[in-house]
Amino acid sequence: MPTTSDQTELIDAYQRHINYLRISITDRCNLRCLYCAPGRPIKKMPHESILRYEEILRLVKIGVRLGITKVRVTGGEPFVRKGCCDFLEKLTAIRGLSDISLTTNGVLLKRHLNRLHEIGIRRLNISLDTLKPDKYREITSVSAFDRVWESIHAAVEMGFSPVKINVVAMRGINDDELKELARLTFSYPFHVRFIEQMPFGEVCRENSNPLLAPDIKERIETIAPLSAVSRENNDGPARRYRFEGAPGEIGFITAVSQHFCSECNRLRLTADGRIRTCLLSDHTTDIKTALRSGASDEMLAGIFLAAVADKPRRHNLQNHSSSCLNKMISIGG
Ligand code: SAM
Repeated sequence: MPTTSDQTELIDAYQRHINYLRISITDRCNLRCLYCAPGRPIKKMPHESILRYEEILRLVKIGVRLGITKVRVTGGEPFVRKGCCDFLEKLTAIRGLSDISLTTNGVLLKRHLNRLHEIGIRRLNISLDTLKPDKYREITSVSAFDRVWESIHAAVEMGFSPVKINVVAMRGINDDELKELARLTFSYPFHVRFIEQMPFGEVCRENSNPLLAPDIKERIETIAPLSAVSRENNDGPARRYRFEGAPGEIGFITAVSQHFCSECNRLRLTADGRIRTCLLSDHTTDIKTALRSGASDEMLAGIFLAAVADKPRRHNLQNHSSSCLNKMISIGG
């Protein structure tokens, strides 16, 4: 186990500065989306193997000392874990974090909006792949479209911004609605982001012909021309566009067709305490064992640094040599 290091910042072998940590606080989810957790019941992580909130907070503080400034909380579904908002409040109290955001399916969001607002969280990503309640049920296995739709509107009314709507584009499932979803940006300030379906778990084998961003963009541009929006500091990998005069934006996340690995500034902390340096590789580093065996902050920092030193240059989805057998639900999107 690495114990000390001269390096004090998370910079990998390719000189990428890692300042963004995505934290999955649970592997549990209240939906079973086709592209994320399809098929057989998912084996849940035992409770004792899931990091306690205090453990996560300690790791975040160490991460901040190594250069992490941006954190996204995800899952599973973050709101199915008890105490999520209390945890978020403690996270917002960590000095050095300039950006804390949340990814949720929105099903339980509405009841938490006041609290989120009070503790200063403003950036929300909400997953919604269809505007049809029946289709929503088909995709997620749960009838919850209305609840999600209400949450999205309530969030915008309360001043959350940006409210990003994550749409996984699926051939033969929701590709008849892509234009309708894009048109939302004429009426609302949503950022509608089309995500290329990435191969995870069994989906890996079933999705040999994913719908890619150039095709999606071409379809959407039949509504009206799209102009590129210039990139900002907090931008992730989305390529951003806007219809002229529209309050909202359109984004494309091109993980499959055009990888953005050279700009990747991310690390993931899984719910069971492993550091994952590439979403599309199953290679992870255990930090929980050290954390629970009395390791000092310096030793834990060493584990972060060693994991980052090993971050792969790029994923190899295009030539099918990336191996990712885990489902997104257990990784955290
Ligand atoms: N439960 C939360 C939610 O639904 O937003 C957070 C976790 S979910 C795994 C995070 C994001 O990953 C979602 O926006 C989801 O659409 C995306 N996602 C899951 N599986 C995917 C896949 N195979 N390809 C692309 N995006 C995926």
